[in-house]
Amino acid sequence: MKTVLKNGRILDPAQDLDMVGSLVVEDDQVIEFGAKVDARGADEVIDCTGLWIAPGLVDLHVHLREPGEEHRETIVSGTQSAAAGGYTTICCMPNTNPPLDSPSLIDFIMDRSASPEAGGVFVAPVGALTLGNRGDQLSDLAALKKAGIVAASDEEAPIQSALVMTRAMETCVQLDLPIMAHCEETSLSDGGCMNEGAMSAMLGLKGMPRTSEEIMVMRNCLISLHTGCQLHILRVSTWGAVEMIRQAKYLGAPVTCEICPHHFSLTEDAVGEFNPLFKTTPPLRTQVDIDILLQALSDGTIDCIASDHSPYANYEVQVPFEEAPFGMVGLESVVGVTLTNLTHRGILSPLETVRKLSTAPAQILRLEAGTIKPGDTPVAQVTVIDPELEWTFDVQKTFSKAKNSPFQGMKLKGKAVMTMCGSEIYRDARFDGRRLVSVG
Ligand SMILES: [Zn+2]
Repeated sequence: MKTVLKNGRILDPAQDLDMVGSLVVEDDQVIEFGAKVDARGADEVIDCTGLWIAPGLVDLHVHLREPGEEHRETIVSGTQSAAAGGYTTICCMPNTNPPLDSPSLIDFIMDRSASPEAGGVFVAPVGALTLGNRGDQLSDLAALKKAGIVAASDEEAPIQSALVMTRAMETCVQLDLPIMAHCEETSLSDGGCMNEGAMSAMLGLKGMPRTSEEIMVMRNCLISLHTGCQLHILRVSTWGAVEMIRQAKYLGAPVTCEICPHHFSLTEDAVGEFNPLFKTTPPLRTQVDIDILLQALSDGTIDCIASDHSPYANYEVQVPFEEAPFGMVGLESVVGVTLTNLTHRGILSPLETVRKLSTAPAQILRLEAGTIKPGDTPVAQVTVIDPELEWTFDVQKTFSKAKNSPFQGMKLKGKAVMTMCGSEIYRDARFDGRRLVSVG
């Protein structure tokens, strides 16, 4: 099978490449790209005029909910959702039931994600940093690494003891294993459900202060600095957290961080109608935070964009705001929200947009992804994005089992229209109609 993507804007930050040209995928590999390619014998030539040809997108922060929470999402539905969102590689978080703290569970994830009914994307598991995500005793991280984890995390149950986190980082630096940390000092935030401030006071809801996030970001950055352990900070949300990370990087700490689309697109004002779809941790903050987060995205302090895809069943979110779980789905809205709110507003160039969504996350966890360069990935990972496509996000039409999205009904500009991971794993119907040139 030979497919030619013709006359697109090829964007590959790994090669500092931004050019108009064509790309050839044959027998699951990129074999050639450039201004002129050999299209002879192609089974299909696809006109990509006006479209981006990018490395397959990489999401470091996805909850697939399996094992144990299949009423929310499964590895099959979650990976299909990823493919439709333009992703070819995703990392799945360990806070499942049971948590991913043993090699047999990692084997299970690998097997299920490679099954024929799954979405065809690579799934790189993140292991539980402590047994049962309980925050005290470290998991057998050496065995987990051998089984294939790419990082370790306690995600939504962040380690509160500075001593345990220090031991964890000392261990992980020996194993060359990055730690992904959700930063929350829970003595400050316990029982809270939105950003603490005038808005929470007005609504009569218990707030989660920004200091809860910032103190833990600072603590973890300091332990990283002094142990040398690679630290990736999950979903930053406050200007203070960003300033801590900026300082840690300046001091030479091996620290990176991500942001989620809801944190750069929505403020605490959205909570005003008590809609549980807007409940997340860390909570939606303020416009002042967003202004500085945008600056940090464009100056590189924030390394990448992740979805924190957090599926819940309808009955779990159709409850009073205080009782609702934290989190929202995201895999199929990230590209649209990012292009609409960052690229089309001049915050990120097209090349920098692709860097945040693909190359940078791949480099952070040293995943074989994030570039179209032949031979640098096990198979071709390519995503075609229509940056000008205007569409309305309808979560009911997504592949995810869950429908808890704060972006429902939002008008977006930009969409992933085709995803290839070895072979083609997703094609948008609109793209099929408009762009197909010939089938040999
Ligand atoms: Zn998460």
